[in-house]
Amino acid sequence: MSISPIHVIGGGLAGSEAAWQVAQAGVPVVLHEMRPVRGTDAHQTDRLAELVCSNSFRADDWESSAVGLLHAEMRRCGSLILAAGDAHQVPAGGALAVDRDGFAAAVTARIEAHPLVTIAREEVAGLPPADWDSVVVATGPLTSPALSEAILALTGEGELSFFDAIAPIVLADSIDMDVAWRQSRYDKEGPGGDAAAYINCPMTKDQYEAFVDALLAGPKAEFKAWEHVPYFDGCLPIEVMAERGRETLRHGPMKPVGLTNAHKPEEKAWAVVQLRQDNALGTLWNMVGFQTKLKHGAQTEVFRTIPGLEKAVFARLGGLHRNTFLNSPKLLDASLRLKADPRLRFAGQITGVEGYVESAAVGLLAGRFAAGERLGRPCAAPPSTTALGALLGHITGGHLDGGKGSFQPMNINYGLLPAIAPPKRADDGRRLGSKEKGRAKKRLVGERALADIAAWLGGADVVEAAE
Ligand SMILES: Cc1cc2nc3c(=O)[nH]c(=O)nc-3n(C[C@H](O)[C@H](O)[C@H](O)COP(=O)(O)OP(=O)(O)OC[C@H]3O[C@@H](n4cnc5c(N)ncnc54)[C@H](O)[C@@H]3O)c2cc1C
Repeated sequence: MSISPIHVIGGGLAGSEAAWQVAQAGVPVVLHEMRPVRGTDAHQTDRLAELVCSNSFRADDWESSAVGLLHAEMRRCGSLILAAGDAHQVPAGGALAVDRDGFAAAVTARIEAHPLVTIAREEVAGLPPADWDSVVVATGPLTSPALSEAILALTGEGELSFFDAIAPIVLADSIDMDVAWRQSRYDKEGPGGDAAAYINCPMTKDQYEAFVDALLAGPKAEFKAWEHVPYFDGCLPIEVMAERGRETLRHGPMKPVGLTNAHKPEEKAWAVVQLRQDNALGTLWNMVGFQTKLKHGAQTEVFRTIPGLEKAVFARLGGLHRNTFLNSPKLLDASLRLKADPRLRFAGQITGVEGYVESAAVGLLAGRFAAGERLGRPCAAPPSTTALGALLGHITGGHLDGGKGSFQPMNINYGLLPAIAPPKRADDGRRLGSKEKGRAKKRLVGERALADIAAWLGGADVVEAAE
């Protein structure tokens, strides 16, 4: 009996990986890529999996980096993107960087040569025809306007964003709670009855003034000419607010009212930075109202001057970009299907992950889910202890709904994975220092993830993609 094809729209990082996974599972796939018939503002070639900016897949070490762990898991899942990346790597220290032309050419060649893949060079300029009963939409941050308008009509106003406005996220255990304290403004109870929902970091007048000076002086990232990112009141970058007047932040996101410093109740803070819980695990906290175009290095430097955040570890730094992404935690089910139209699955940056590797990772999952469904062998989600499972969890449920616009794109990071208690002592009985404990913790998280991904793959056909 012939198997009807799965359609993948978009031959970028996610779509190429999804198509590969589908085909490797023995299911025919039609990959629809609009380039070169229609271009985007960032792509330069007609190749599949073109890298539009940097040529780095970031750190490659699973023992010390969350993205390195994601690499390792993807390799075990037979990822084409990782296999082509490995085959075309260029020297980059501990990072996996690639020769962009060789990499994209290799991905294109492997997909073109696959007997179960057909490539259609065309724009899908609206919702897919009704007879496409299983579709993976992987059209990325620069999804063509005709398709994004059709998706918007299906999902509803406000559920598909065209720009991100990202505030930094801090790992909970890096906040100094001897300085910061938990309290909601005016001790107002939230829906869950919690009157201490926020973490508050107090500032004196001198600290606030120095902070404003640093914001104004700090180097800012430039917008690309084609991005046309508008500033909406309500999510202005903090440095733009600071430019509007030195007191603006103190009357906006940093207002000190309705809060009493739990450590020094007699001292009235001049300004307060608030952080709100971002994920169900409680490991990630976002800096409320702190979307910014400051360059990443400057963000780390300036935000660590905030009392309580001197040793902050940032799971995500702030930014504002042109981007197209869904309010996935609300719209997608656990296998990336659109609840409103389950024949449509989403993958890649459009689901609210950030980065080449993360986009490909979600493509890998979408491809496996779609193929499993087609073959009548549903593929379970990877465990939440794996980097793949953690990423999927972030886009389909792990993020806490903090109101309009609170779901924003994110890279893989340790805060998305359940924590593990570090050993207190080394093998030789010596007490470990805090840095050593941190390293040991990451290694344990990595070991657990790789064991769990192996178990998840246990029943599945693991097909190596290595060249
Ligand atoms: C300017 C820019 C710079 C970036 N720089 C980096 C970086 O340096 N490092 C990093 O890790 N991440 C970066 N990203 C973020 C992100 O990781 C990449 O955009 C990544 O390519 C996303 O993968 P994707 O598969 O979701 O989308 P893409 O790789 O963009 O693939 C989407 C594909 O869909 C096609 N398409 C769109 N609409 C249609 C349609 N209607 N019909 C058919 N085909 C369609 C496009 O032509 C494209 O080939 C950047 C993003 C942008 C916009």
